[in-house]
Amino acid sequence: MDKSTLDKLQILADGAKYDVSCASSGVEKKNQGGLGNAAACGICHTWSSDGRCVSLLKTLVSNDCVFDCAYCASRSGNDIPRASFTAEEIVELTIGFYRRNYIEGLFLSSAIERSPNHTMEKIVRILQLLREREKFFGYIHVKAIPGADPQLIHQAGLLADRMSVNLELPTRESLALLAPQKKPEKLYLPMEQMAREIRQSKEEQKSFRHAPKFVPGGQSTQMIVGATRDSDRTILKATQALYRRFQMKRVYFSAYMPVNGGSLLPSLQTAPPLLREHRLYQADWLLRFYGFTAEEILPEGTPDLDLEYDPKIHWAFRHLHEFPVEVNKADYKTLLRVPGIGPTSAGRIVRQRGVRKVGQEDLQRMGVALKRARHFLTCGGKYLGDGELTVDAVKEVLHPLPRFSQVGLFDPGQGLHREVGGFP
Ligand code: SF4
Repeated sequence: MDKSTLDKLQILADGAKYDVSCASSGVEKKNQGGLGNAAACGICHTWSSDGRCVSLLKTLVSNDCVFDCAYCASRSGNDIPRASFTAEEIVELTIGFYRRNYIEGLFLSSAIERSPNHTMEKIVRILQLLREREKFFGYIHVKAIPGADPQLIHQAGLLADRMSVNLELPTRESLALLAPQKKPEKLYLPMEQMAREIRQSKEEQKSFRHAPKFVPGGQSTQMIVGATRDSDRTILKATQALYRRFQMKRVYFSAYMPVNGGSLLPSLQTAPPLLREHRLYQADWLLRFYGFTAEEILPEGTPDLDLEYDPKIHWAFRHLHEFPVEVNKADYKTLLRVPGIGPTSAGRIVRQRGVRKVGQEDLQRMGVALKRARHFLTCGGKYLGDGELTVDAVKEVLHPLPRFSQVGLFDPGQGLHREVGGFP
């Protein structure tokens, strides 16, 4: 790699680390005699020492932005080294890294270089060169640039595995405050187009096996947490609306990293709100897999998630009158509301009940986290908790989780950053 490409890569890969919307899609796509394979496990990714997800080829196409969003390192008003890759440079890097086994895929984001169309044209060109000339079938996630011609987004969607538009802030007011050049309508347009074309493409595949696939890994987005005063309730309601309106595959949360000064932003000394980000991922999990609504998790008058207890147990504390539930009678939906029971264990309980009664001894084998669940269950009429079911009694035995502190990948004696989203 020549020095100028390496210099550019250092600048642009560093600029991409603030974008967390890059997890694997698990997309199924066969290698058709070329390079790479997205079917195995999607993109191979790792974590940087500050906890951001960084693939070895997770990069910006350009950090030379014409926009001036207050929270962003690439904003036009910042005096930072600027760089832009050509399409050929990105292709050369991707293929070179792939052949050396450094990467399994590509995550490509970009500042708005010159104009939305100019940037999107470059992204489409990169996709065409990789897919059509180099026959690269590895996982590729690219940005859809708001304001770009829908035809360009269409072309990109036929070649990429996943696409994303980052909403960044959950309300019109917050966008107007920190990113006044970004209009919500312009952000929603490509999301709308992608949702529509993904649906159409799935329909066409039912009739024609070889119908072209449009963004087979679905679309995702990202919101920054803590750059504005938006409450968790506001963020969660926006998240729910994104899943419902655009059938998002994932909404990612990124704890605000202070990189710029300015009176509109939290101070540069502010630590990223990582525990808050973690709780939002847990609440997102409840939306996607447990049948909760944002309003149930955070009702009117409860603006923020509890930092001591996870959102599911906090919901149970507020609905203690609905517990304990009988493990041999409760329906699947009710079982899912029990702290310590997830979709897999709830499914196993319901299936076993069709054959024989579930006994206390079966629960652990079925994957129920009994330490938590027993306070909310009866089994064959017998209460599995100790004494009375009160919030204080449960809190007494269920100590809050230790404060979530970010560990560095290279900190001595520390393991890898763990996947966020699940329940202990
Ligand atoms: S448009 Fe994107 S890259 Fe440009 S300043 Fe705003 S957030 Fe940063």
